[in-house]
Amino acid sequence: MIGATPQPISWHVARWGDEPFSRGSWSYIRPGGSPADRWTLAEPIDNRFALCGEAVGTDQAAMTHGAYASGVRAAQWCLGVAAPGERIVVVGAGFGGLGAARTLADAGYECVVVEARDRIGGRAHTVLLESADGSPAVAADAGAAWLQQFAKNPFAPLAVSLGVAPVPTDFHAPLASASDGPVGDVGGALARLAGAARAATAGPVPDVSLDSVAASMLLTGEDARSLRHAIDADVVLETGGALHDTSARWFFEEDGVGNDDHWLPGGYRTILDHLASGLDIRLGRPVREIVWSSSGIVVETADERIVGDRCICNIPVSLLRSGEPVLRPGLPSAHRAALAGIGMGVVEKVLMRFERRWWPAGSSGYMRWYDDPATWCEWGDLTDGCGAPVVAGLIAHDAVARHHHGRTDAEIVRAATAALRQWSDVLEAT
Ligand SMILES: Cc1cc2nc3c(=O)[nH]c(=O)nc-3n(C[C@H](O)[C@H](O)[C@H](O)COP(=O)(O)OP(=O)(O)OC[C@H]3O[C@@H](n4cnc5c(N)ncnc54)[C@H](O)[C@@H]3O)c2cc1C
Repeated sequence: MIGATPQPISWHVARWGDEPFSRGSWSYIRPGGSPADRWTLAEPIDNRFALCGEAVGTDQAAMTHGAYASGVRAAQWCLGVAAPGERIVVVGAGFGGLGAARTLADAGYECVVVEARDRIGGRAHTVLLESADGSPAVAADAGAAWLQQFAKNPFAPLAVSLGVAPVPTDFHAPLASASDGPVGDVGGALARLAGAARAATAGPVPDVSLDSVAASMLLTGEDARSLRHAIDADVVLETGGALHDTSARWFFEEDGVGNDDHWLPGGYRTILDHLASGLDIRLGRPVREIVWSSSGIVVETADERIVGDRCICNIPVSLLRSGEPVLRPGLPSAHRAALAGIGMGVVEKVLMRFERRWWPAGSSGYMRWYDDPATWCEWGDLTDGCGAPVVAGLIAHDAVARHHHGRTDAEIVRAATAALRQWSDVLEAT
């Protein structure tokens, strides 16, 4: 493309890492941790209190349907122990809290959901991108946007029944370009890292970090460059965490992106609104303390005390680890140890709507930009699904520290647009 870079007419910059009610994007397994930690966290405590959410008691961690299933499971514990007429308080109206509340309300229990933000959905948040000429705003997701594991995702038939037509995205067929030369064998480099990680953690040996596995591969030249690109785009962007904080034993074992993903036109709000319909959800009430005893539970916000029989808590693990809200008498030592095994990554998204699609269009709508050091290495071209020229750029972990912190949204958008332009120019030149 020749000439000045077109600038977006509207945008949204997500800051999940800084937001006080998420402090991160999704969970991953740290060295020494394991998926069993997720199940330990799901164990009810004193028969009064249970955790739920994407990091808790699920084999579909870090995904919306896993969070929902975790909430349903916590509700099933309640249903198994609660006497008729009990009142259950759910803290947090993310997918986990909605799964719990929907199940309890449908079973006839009185259930109150207390949510800190002035909206439901937590890390699923549909925003509107305005046009410049009065044509309709388009909806796009600042957090979760795809239904993953579509064939076995319970939201897939739900979305279709709600009139949504999910659009398949092939994450294995990106339009890719690199700032430092032709794109190398990134897939091969990732496969070699996986092999080295499995070899390093085979049998009854302690877990190590993926960082140390990568270093032990002693790669140089083109092989080292391909491995760095694979790490930026396939590992760090997948966890949002540091490589030295990522488990070599489990990273390649947990399921995630690239396994039958469908993008949701109109955004997650259609599903969220349906699931929340008729529930007693109290917005704008950050919970400061949850207390349980043999006689029941008390959930405290700045200006009210909500009393109940049991509590299901959908607070993200990053907040639980920093003691927000205060839990009394507190998590047992097994839960605290499990919490230490799970990290919370930071992946941020910028959504940008333009007057026209000026970047090259690929068949999968998926783009990769291998920059050195990494910037927005993953892009989704949402134009065909949205019906308007919209792209979503993703940036992770240390790149967030370099490109987000201390910058205004407008500055971030300018830098993201420049990265998209560079990706596009390099792609067109090759
Ligand atoms: C950029 C991004 C992209 C993603 N893409 C996808 C995707 O394409 N597909 C997918 O399946 N998943 C995706 N995810 C992950 C997905 O969004 C999460 O796994 C899921 O939404 C988490 O749900 P949850 O209920 O566990 O937590 P949350 O959604 O975080 O819900 C927790 C709730 O608790 C509330 N809360 C916090 N503190 C308090 C308090 N003190 N008092 C009261 N309430 C409180 C929060 O406001 C929030 O509503 C993405 C996430 C991000 C950030």
